[in-house]
Amino acid sequence: MSKEETSIEEFKPLNFIEEMIEEDLEKGVKSEVVTRFPPEPNGYLHIGHAKSICLNFGLSEKYNGRTNIRFDDTNPTKEDIEYVEAIKADVSWLGFEWANEFYASDYFETLYGFAVKLIKEGKAYVDQQSPEQISEHRGVPTSPGIESEYRNRSEEESLSLFERMRAGEFKESDNYTLRAKIDMTSPNMHMRDPIMYRVRHVEHFRTKKEWCIYPMYDFAHGLSDAIENISHSLCTLEFEVHRPLYDWFNTAVYGDVVLPQQTEFARLNLAYTVMSKRKLLQLVEENLVDGWNDPRMPTISGLRRRGYTAASIREFCDRIGVAKRNGIIDIQLLEFSVREDLNKIAARRMVVMDPIKVVITNYPEGKEEQLLAVNIPGDESAGKREIPFSRELYIDRDDFMEEPPKKYFRLAPEKVVRLKYAYIIQCDEVIKNDDGSIQELRCTYFPDSKSGQDTSGIKVKGTIHWVEANKAINKEIRLYDRLFSVEDPSLEAGKEGDFKSFINQDSLEINNSAKLEPSLGNAEVGTHIQFERKGYFCVDSKAAAEGELIFNRTVALRDSWAKMQNKG
Ligand code: ATP
Ligand code: MG
Repeated sequence: MSKEETSIEEFKPLNFIEEMIEEDLEKGVKSEVVTRFPPEPNGYLHIGHAKSICLNFGLSEKYNGRTNIRFDDTNPTKEDIEYVEAIKADVSWLGFEWANEFYASDYFETLYGFAVKLIKEGKAYVDQQSPEQISEHRGVPTSPGIESEYRNRSEEESLSLFERMRAGEFKESDNYTLRAKIDMTSPNMHMRDPIMYRVRHVEHFRTKKEWCIYPMYDFAHGLSDAIENISHSLCTLEFEVHRPLYDWFNTAVYGDVVLPQQTEFARLNLAYTVMSKRKLLQLVEENLVDGWNDPRMPTISGLRRRGYTAASIREFCDRIGVAKRNGIIDIQLLEFSVREDLNKIAARRMVVMDPIKVVITNYPEGKEEQLLAVNIPGDESAGKREIPFSRELYIDRDDFMEEPPKKYFRLAPEKVVRLKYAYIIQCDEVIKNDDGSIQELRCTYFPDSKSGQDTSGIKVKGTIHWVEANKAINKEIRLYDRLFSVEDPSLEAGKEGDFKSFINQDSLEINNSAKLEPSLGNAEVGTHIQFERKGYFCVDSKAAAEGELIFNRTVALRDSWAKMQNKG
């Protein structure tokens, strides 16, 4: 690293979490940085989770600490091993290694012990009000709630009932719950005797039938952090109001020692998509998309199948930074990050998306020559490849105009253009179908204008891509657009409406007429390719697994001609 680079590094401002951590380390409040990424295994990870992953793992990397992955699996009806596996695969793919793989369900016995301790100390009691009564008595923030008539039953009685809850003596409808005895008058509703345990006669994907009582998130989460000696517990802003409860449970169990510090940051919201697992699950279950990894989904697996690189997602998360204020991030920032990365690594290939035939009338019939094309401009190590050239070629329909406006530098009648890596051609004649559409263009080429050894002296302003007609291959190409037609589908739908009514009906365009350079027939899953002048593409992994070669467009290139047209 050069001197200049180090100094830029040094002056990169700290975000508010880094500031807090450095202060904690300096003052000796914390001796090390231990973070965790705590997904609930009830869906696939999305780009919002990537922000949390990059933040948690990034901090422990920066401060030589460690990060655990912990599955917060306290809600057995929605959780599954499939999600656990997918989550682990996504975190690894993003490039992070966890120090430990933990499960809240591994702490069920310990948590039960904590609950017993709180009961014995008079800090928890077994209630038997119905859910409706509990919520009615909890009241509203502006006036005190009503204490349960069971609140002051003896510790012995609560303990005995709690043991019977665990033993399976009660039905769910008997309404037994364990509640923390905190403060029914607190203006913070979360402190009004929150529920710690409820009876659920359901099987858990890990503990199977061992338990019929399950801890609530607020009770399990903070204590799991404490069990793991997490130094800094980072979560999204909606948990700010839970923080007093987080601290209450940890202090009630562990007493006056250094405990995990909860700190909140703004969640990532992306425009033109939804980002809640519940909603993404609906899209999957109702077959509105092709699974969790549909390339239009904001899931990490969807972005991967779409051709996003892990580096570009990490870079994006770095760019958006962490703040205390919620907002919506434009998808263009994500696209910018991936273009920047792919520009460096994607091999260039030529593909004609909407072909028109070009016949070079002065090129000998039956002749074919091989031309050399650069794989990655600016990266000599990526080498060159051979591409065939002959009398019949294809060019893209929008690279030809019969009546071109000024400043149109592509092909037009009697005009010249350069075929990339090949020759300059001139259009002599336009052959049409009966309906007036173009059937083919008759052109001549200039033999002394070959790329790299051009002695023709002809001045051309435009270069276009092309594909030799006989060797070209046909493959399906899928072009994706945003999944929703409005910026914030959830907001637009409101409470009553359905966010799914805002799905963009044109979010997938299938192209089966494209002509591809023959070398693309060997393209493999995981490689990134720039179709020259068209965009970045990748091989669809799902189709490949079924033996089919289909290309997905990751992101378009910016089209300078379209930009000029927009300027008018
Ligand atoms: P969802 O609302 O999508 O279901 P969640 O918060 O319920 O998300 P969890 O599995 O509980 O999902 O999330 C794991 C971690 O990822 C949590 O620490 C959570 O705060 C964080 N996280 C979830 N969504 C986002 C987001 N959009 N931006 C930043 N962090 C997020
Ligand atoms: Mg959650």
